[in-house]
Amino acid sequence: MKSFKDIYKNSENKIAGIAAAPGIVIGQVYLFAKEKLEISKAPITDVAEAIENFQEALRQSKKELNKIFGIAREKMDEVRAAIFEAQVMILDDPILIQNIESRIAKEMIQPEFIVADEISKYQELMIISHESYMKERAHDIEDIKHRIIRNLQKKRWQSKIETNLIVVSEALTPADTLLFSRRETLAFVTDHGGLTSHAAIISRSLNIPAVVGTHNATQLIKEGDTIIVDGFHGYIITNPTDEQLHFFTEKQKKLQEIQKGLEEFRDQPAVTLDGKEIKLEANVDVTGEIDVVITSNANGIGLYRSEQILNELGVFPEEDEQAIIYSKLASRMYPKFVTIRAFDIGGDKFRISEYKEPNPFLGLRGVRFLLENETLFRTQIRAVLKASENKNVRLMIPMISTLDEVWRCLDIIHECKSDLKREKIKFDNHIKVGIMIEVPSAAVMAKEYAEEVDFLSIGTNDLIQYMMAVDRGNDLVSNLYQEFSPVVVRTIEHIVKAAKHSKIPVSICGEMAADTLAIPLLVGLGLDSLNDVSKYNFIRKKS
Ligand code: PEP
Ligand code: MG
Repeated sequence: MKSFKDIYKNSENKIAGIAAAPGIVIGQVYLFAKEKLEISKAPITDVAEAIENFQEALRQSKKELNKIFGIAREKMDEVRAAIFEAQVMILDDPILIQNIESRIAKEMIQPEFIVADEISKYQELMIISHESYMKERAHDIEDIKHRIIRNLQKKRWQSKIETNLIVVSEALTPADTLLFSRRETLAFVTDHGGLTSHAAIISRSLNIPAVVGTHNATQLIKEGDTIIVDGFHGYIITNPTDEQLHFFTEKQKKLQEIQKGLEEFRDQPAVTLDGKEIKLEANVDVTGEIDVVITSNANGIGLYRSEQILNELGVFPEEDEQAIIYSKLASRMYPKFVTIRAFDIGGDKFRISEYKEPNPFLGLRGVRFLLENETLFRTQIRAVLKASENKNVRLMIPMISTLDEVWRCLDIIHECKSDLKREKIKFDNHIKVGIMIEVPSAAVMAKEYAEEVDFLSIGTNDLIQYMMAVDRGNDLVSNLYQEFSPVVVRTIEHIVKAAKHSKIPVSICGEMAADTLAIPLLVGLGLDSLNDVSKYNFIRKKS
């Protein structure tokens, strides 16, 4: 049987993009193009009437957005649904409204021209920002601009959308994505947008496969074409050959079989023939994944990548806002536990614009950033502690590379606990605090570190990158990214032994734990738990 690699190597009819939401879909294309609006700059004579038209367009746009916000709340968790609430708030922005109205009165030209001009100014500022989050938000604002102008021109809201098709579009706003999801859309493909685009985030939470950032899919694909969307690897196959159709249909069947087969084992413990139970835990990147985690009956959440909240919100949430997010997560998982990893900022993740680093992977990342920004770190620790009252929350620190960092973190956590006690706020005083072992220096010293903390979690994604000196995201050197290298295997063994020596649990939260080939090896090396990141790989078989 050919592999994905073989298939893609020989395929001239493939389009590469970013794998934004997993799944394989074969279907027909609906080429979605937003109606291009003609914007008039014609003079007006009646200012009062123009301002009244503008007000009416705002009211109508708000009505539409509120409707979408309602659907969003039904379908998604609150954090994600808030994308739309934020858009409604822009429609209420007094400065924006005032600017537009006073320009209508002064320049006496069509309000639609002034609306386009004023909102474009906001967008330009966002587009030149270095933050990918801000760039993405510029697309969301395009949606609002389009909406107000359409309503000024008294055009109807396009809501007639075909069902059961693959939507291919230059870009998708969060509202488009949500409306399409109601029409049983099979998959999304876009020219623009990255992993943090809201269209990508929404697709993931609604389980609709998506490939984004293809640059030119809309030029290469035609309405009605049959295409294959591979949301696991980020490819689209246009006009597939019989061989390709056969390959992907087989893969789809296999996925369904695996899924069905695994369901049988879902409620059974994962036990080896000699009676050792391996805990299968989930990795969670976005809150919308929790449903899948609960239905797959994972033993808990071994890694909650909290920096995702920053990607979604674009700002550091206040302590109470964070406490609400973590408490909700903890109560949804209760009595199973949730391991909240402190913000792993830097590297290829959420970045703070004031820090421009030539080599971010070796820079102010993870715990280094947190210790440099102690107030922010304390805010997060306090929020995690507040969510720990029911004793099912654990705290994990990323990117530890020195023992001193471990001690400093433990001191800060201790101080935060004392503050909360003084403030008479309830929390789990015995909350388990663990560290990630993902930097070679920490791996070498694992024994000493294990004596200080309650658990270790091996982050193989970074550990392999740093041990082999190979950028985990760089295609050119991907052949050196070898999870089965003796270097990696011996290092894992060394870390596991260190944890056993201190009688603390050790897990793997890197992608390696989701590789079915690696699982027997990891179990043999003595891992207590595997954070199985792939939802399709929840193993429950006896091995
Ligand atoms: C890892 O490095 O293995 C890990 C789980 O963390 P992340 O992928 O978020 O860096
Ligand atoms: Mg990591």
